[in-house]
Amino acid sequence: MPRRRGIDSWLPPSGPGVRELAMLASILEGKTLQEVSEEFGVTRERIRQIVTAQDPQAVKKSNALRRERRQEQRLRQREADLATNPECAICWGPILRKLVGPRGGKYPTCSPSCARLREIVQYHLWDDVKLTHQRSMAKWHLAHPDKSTGASLSYSIRVLAGTTKRRQQRPVTSVRVQTALNEIKRLRAKNKEAR
Ligand SMILES: [Zn+2]
Repeated sequence: MPRRRGIDSWLPPSGPGVRELAMLASILEGKTLQEVSEEFGVTRERIRQIVTAQDPQAVKKSNALRRERRQEQRLRQREADLATNPECAICWGPILRKLVGPRGGKYPTCSPSCARLREIVQYHLWDDVKLTHQRSMAKWHLAHPDKSTGASLSYSIRVLAGTTKRRQQRPVTSVRVQTALNEIKRLRAKNKEAR
């Protein structure tokens, strides 16, 4: 239709219509191409073409916005977790995976690695664990005098009678224990900072 073409040439090039503007607005709100495509009944690729024609950075901006929201969501989730979950006795982080590590008990841990650290340091970190250990060792020695020395027997009697000095802080000599204690210090500092 040559007549029609003639009239069109007199009109300014057509800009985006209401529908196209609405598509761009949805994308810039942070909706995905898929969501907008379902909303308008147009293919994802077509949506991409339409919004990119109006704003070349539109899809990028949308992705960035969603990333930012996810990050905020994660932070809020972590705060909620910290508020509602018990604290790991080793690293002071929240215990999220309840099935991992020893459950319950006085000194629960959040992960297998924290459980391992606890095993190494428990007699050094908590006096009551140390005392329980000392008492059970003392009972063992008294029950097996043939396997014990005189010194360990008299020490065992003092332990069970409660006459040993409570705070016999012998320096930690084991490298393994010292390494574990340093690692715990680092983890705790990190978790404290994250709060
Ligand atoms: Zn932990």
